[in-house]
Amino acid sequence: MLKVNDINVFYGNIQALKGVSLEVNEGEIVTLIGANGAGKSTLLKTLSGLLKPKQGTIEYLGSSIAGKQAQSIVKAGISHVPEGRRVFANMTVEENLELGAYLRKDKDGIAKDLQRVFELFPRLLERRKQQSGTLSGGEQQMLAMGRAIMAKPKLLLLDEPSMGLAPLMVKTIFSIVKEINKEGTTILLVEQNAHMALSVADRAYVIETGRVVLSGTAKELKETE
Ligand code: ADP
Ligand code: ADP
Repeated sequence: MLKVNDINVFYGNIQALKGVSLEVNEGEIVTLIGANGAGKSTLLKTLSGLLKPKQGTIEYLGSSIAGKQAQSIVKAGISHVPEGRRVFANMTVEENLELGAYLRKDKDGIAKDLQRVFELFPRLLERRKQQSGTLSGGEQQMLAMGRAIMAKPKLLLLDEPSMGLAPLMVKTIFSIVKEINKEGTTILLVEQNAHMALSVADRAYVIETGRVVLSGTAKELKETE
């Protein structure tokens, strides 16, 4: 589904990704694990069209997406939930979710998908008329994920959904990630928390200072933990 081949990404003179290659197959949960500053967010920003690779190729469903506009990447079926759960604080939960549907190609079934988001995240249903800025961190993470789902992605990019959340909330979020995957959405999950990430993923890549240093099935990598 996604084939990243030998990409180099720079911020000015700083090289954040150094010859990164990885693959995601349809139906998988793949995780990219690494310490703070390793280049995880940079990879997701590159896949979602916010950064351009200087070298290398990115193929998604058989076409090149390297350097394409973020909007056309969303339309092609890739949704990105950035780090730091950015929701529109002065809009309600429902309004944030509706905004997520704005860039989807197929406008049919929006009401049904909204229902589905509320089934996945019952807390959002309870708070649907509430200003999003008043939600807890975990609820804002749920909202950011729900908004991405409203774009009807084939591939969902999740940037550290567990960051700053209490263990119980992390468990909830990860079990919902599993459920979204079971319903047919492929997932690329970026995490510092290797233990949690390996517990939900099929395969994993480990990234250190801009390079992939290890890859394998989640089971294989768990044994090296
Ligand atoms: P991670 O997501 O793994 O924590 P990042 O992808 O955010 O890592 O960062 C990778 C490297 O690129 C780090 O050294 C970081 O400081 C640097 N970096 C990230 N964003 C910028 C930026 N806007 N300008 C310059 N350097 C950046
Ligand atoms: P995010 O990665 O979600 O954008 P961060 O808190 O990592 O959030 O970074 C906030 C902003 O600062 C981002 O625009 C990021 O690209 C930029 N940034 C991160 N690291 C550096 C760095 N070393 N030098 C310059 N800008 C950076």
